Amino acid sequence: MAKLASATGIAPARPPAVPFGRRAIAAQQGQILRAALAAVGPDRPTAAFDLDSTLLSNKPRQARIVREFGAAHGDARLAACGEEYVVSWELRDTALLCGVPEAELDLLLPPLRSFWQERFFTSAFCADDEPLPGAAAFLRAVLARGGHLLYLTGRPEDMRDGTLAVFRRAGFPMPGEAASGGAASSASSGSLGSVDLWLKPVRAADDDAWKDECHARLAAMSGVACAFDNEPTHVNAYKRAFPGAVVVHLDTDHSQRPVEVLESIPSILDFRLDPVAAGASSVLSGEDRR
Ligand SMILES: [Mg+2]
Repeated sequence: MAKLASATGIAPARPPAVPFGRRAIAAQQGQILRAALAAVGPDRPTAAFDLDSTLLSNKPRQARIVREFGAAHGDARLAACGEEYVVSWELRDTALLCGVPEAELDLLLPPLRSFWQERFFTSAFCADDEPLPGAAAFLRAVLARGGHLLYLTGRPEDMRDGTLAVFRRAGFPMPGEAASGGAASSASSGSLGSVDLWLKPVRAADDDAWKDECHARLAAMSGVACAFDNEPTHVNAYKRAFPGAVVVHLDTDHSQRPVEVLESIPSILDFRLDPVAAGASSVLSGEDRR
């Protein structure tokens, strides 16, 4: 996952020109997702998916950390933190929404940030993550087309157990699983209809460098049919490395580095093929949100 400068207390250089949640247009989401699926074929079977804020929401994990901090420090306001109070990577925002007055923040935030840092990047806590709406069905659709489903994440290798626990609970295809039908069963390539999970081998390694290394690996394979990521830096890198791929930005949140998504990259809010029919109230168009 990207460096979370905000959560660790370092202010971003400047906010993005288009705040997250304001780029995606709900009415276009189905078309974007269908185009990504259509790109998956025998010549280019790989569909690559980031995990954090792409297939999975980390808000339950964030809220749990704040609650446990509150419980450990006898702070009933924080001990009651719900995921609705996680509105950004800023613990400051969450603390304020929990009812902590501004005047208390200087004293509260340093220990809260340390507590967060010790827990956020662990298997035990990432097991609380929840799938984005439509994610499991979309992943299954990739497999049904005979695709090579690749989970490609900046999570370190020691978060594998918690990651797999979430996959199981969310109904995601499991690494090592092969497609049971569709085009995959008649395909000749051994990579078709398969599922892989690429975790960062070295925890301290830079996320951007890790993803660049993965792109080189993918280029040496058969490239990428489609790719999904919430970090502007990472989707832009996909598009530059694989200009023929359907690269899609998840307009959920990001680390607030001052990088804009390339104009040629569309955005979605989740993986529902028809979010408007499914309940447009939770997926407003970009214009509606401004
Ligand atoms: Mg991410």
